[in-house]
Amino acid sequence: MYMGIIEGTFPPRYRREVKYRNAFVGWRCKKCGRVFYTPRKRCECGSREIEEIELPREGRVVTRTVVRNPPKGYEKYAPYAIAIIELDVDGQKVRVLGQLADVDLDKIRTGMRVRATLRRIRAGRRGLIEYGVKRVPIEE
Ligand SMILES: [Zn+2]
Repeated sequence: MYMGIIEGTFPPRYRREVKYRNAFVGWRCKKCGRVFYTPRKRCECGSREIEEIELPREGRVVTRTVVRNPPKGYEKYAPYAIAIIELDVDGQKVRVLGQLADVDLDKIRTGMRVRATLRRIRAGRRGLIEYGVKRVPIEE
């Protein structure tokens, strides 16, 4: 889950867009093509040529857990589901962690298709609204 407090001097809409884009950034080794979800300086193959790529918005649920005792500040959103989501990046499977939304917690199943969307996470300090990426089911 991509989450954090949005602050700074940028206008809110701009901050949301930056945050949204950042949530879909991945890295790929230019030599062997391996894709990473977290930045690294060196690939397993030894190459240091890592490029930034955009990750797909859609994926499938691999496994999920329901959070009933959330961290401070998120109490009123509980219970909610956190899932490991598998993305297909040019045939390569990349797993990311994400929060599910708009879903019946009892009906989440392995293989369920989800799409990332920008959602309000909570009202933060001084009335700032925090946004983050959540994943909602795709109707099939
Ligand atoms: Zn490599």
